[in-house]
Amino acid sequence: MKKFALSAMIAAMTIAGTASAKVTEQDILNDQATTNDVVTNGMGHRGQRFSPLDKIDTDTVKDLRPVWSFSFGGEKQRGQESQPLVKDGVMFVTGSYSRLFAIDARTGDELWQYDARLPDGIMPCCDVINRGAALYDDLVIFATLDAKLVALDQKTGKVKWKKKVADYKEGYSISAAPMVVKGKVITGVSGGEFGIVGKVEAYDAKTGKIQWSRPTVEGHMGYVWKDGKKTENGISGGEAGKTWPGDLWKSGGAATWLGGTYDAETDLMFFGTGNPAPWNSHLRPGDNLFSSSRLAIDPDDGKIVWHFQTTPHDGWDYDGVNELISFDYKEGGKTVKAAATADRNGFFYVLNRENGDFIRGFPFVDKITWATGLDEKTGRPIYAADGRPGDPRKSADGKKGEAVVAIPSFLGGKNWMPMAYSQETELFYVPSNEWAMDIWNEPTAYKKGAAYLGAGFTIRPTNDEYIGVLRAIDPKTGEEKWRYKNYAPLWGGVLATKGNLVFTGNPEGYLMAFDAKTGEMKYKFNTGSGIVGSPITWEQDGEQFISVVSGWGGAVPLWGGEVAKRVKHLNQGGSVWTFKLPKEDEK
Ligand code: CA
Ligand code: CA
Repeated sequence: MKKFALSAMIAAMTIAGTASAKVTEQDILNDQATTNDVVTNGMGHRGQRFSPLDKIDTDTVKDLRPVWSFSFGGEKQRGQESQPLVKDGVMFVTGSYSRLFAIDARTGDELWQYDARLPDGIMPCCDVINRGAALYDDLVIFATLDAKLVALDQKTGKVKWKKKVADYKEGYSISAAPMVVKGKVITGVSGGEFGIVGKVEAYDAKTGKIQWSRPTVEGHMGYVWKDGKKTENGISGGEAGKTWPGDLWKSGGAATWLGGTYDAETDLMFFGTGNPAPWNSHLRPGDNLFSSSRLAIDPDDGKIVWHFQTTPHDGWDYDGVNELISFDYKEGGKTVKAAATADRNGFFYVLNRENGDFIRGFPFVDKITWATGLDEKTGRPIYAADGRPGDPRKSADGKKGEAVVAIPSFLGGKNWMPMAYSQETELFYVPSNEWAMDIWNEPTAYKKGAAYLGAGFTIRPTNDEYIGVLRAIDPKTGEEKWRYKNYAPLWGGVLATKGNLVFTGNPEGYLMAFDAKTGEMKYKFNTGSGIVGSPITWEQDGEQFISVVSGWGGAVPLWGGEVAKRVKHLNQGGSVWTFKLPKEDEK
């Protein structure tokens, strides 16, 4: 912690000593409070997606109007799941197919565009999406579908450095926004459906030189690079074969595909891990650490400080990647340093972020079939007796195990789309979905670069009227304060503001704003294609702006079964929209 304070001081001195608009450590750490820019994914490293801006509020939002829209162009569009960044009047936003655009935030004029040259053999599981970039110094840094990190000059878009994080031919890709913590670019990897080994890695933000690597499957060793040499950095209780049978840990999945959050107070990064591979759980009896877990990682050397597994021995593809958001609350006169996450498995968890202890957990969806509840002390799920799809080896022909109906479906009670936490209402705003799946297991074997599931499935809605539900949830009690029901599944991020508003988008194309206390819809505007990205807000020339990307796609149309049929009329797109209130003379 001392070392950290010193580096923050040095960063502050650097700002004072130069007129340069470079993004400093202080800019990153203060991002939530500084309303004139958005320099991190999550609108602050803790990922609260809460802004102290309040010019746009429950009264004024009705006058919100678009000021410009920028097209990502190209023949290929597909899902746009990005969150824009804004610094000194320039917006940096990523698009599908690993593209990055710099745009004049006042006019919507393009400043430059960077297109990653992607090889033919990339294997993204869930559309060609990208979720955003990171800013540091004079660089804008993002990751590509062929599993590389690219750092571009913010002014020109020229490549300053490029690093291969993993081999795309083995099934690795990257779609998450990287983050910069203490001068290091931190990234995870995707590929859990191909039997890759998940990892978190740190690279020097200025040079791209690797600093440390932390695999997330128990048995694999982590390394710190020092003076050009690899040095073991230890593993938390990690022993090959302890929670995995035989050699299965060698292709164990646990992809860190959604990136992480960082809490400067505890100096910990929180990364989630995806499903253990393969999906057929009968092949891998045991807890399969560290799959379907949240990991607290030391940013200095990549050590796992604590872990909390939401779905031990996962058999439903309940990836545990969803964002863990740090927040404080008062209880019995004491401040609790907590963190919360809404898991794909349908449970909402509140943890002690200092040590990973379970504080409480509760369902946030209407129905859960695979577990009957959580152990009150440990948070470990209590499995339903008949909730796990059967072992194909026990079937008559050995080819298809007994199918079960599981709720939530593997696309989750909540998937990647980030929730928001309002410091005003002290509620979490959770974009969630109500859907079921038929799931069964099949035999499978690992083959490098091939899908490694050993399962079949069909997803279907559980209600005729709606799938998506935006929920306001009290993390202290589990109470749902209000809900908004949406016909199509919700797949976009949420933003909460001090103006008592909650913003999100839907696949039908609408940017929507709700009263944070009551859930009353106060505004909606159709952007022309589905919204599956995350809105931001910032202030410029004394005015408050809202921006959101539009472009329907992502995992639902590709994996959604009956649900995909229900939303197949929705049109693709690719644009970023910016809104503000009219000035007096513009009314
Ligand atoms: Ca800021
Ligand atoms: Ca998965």
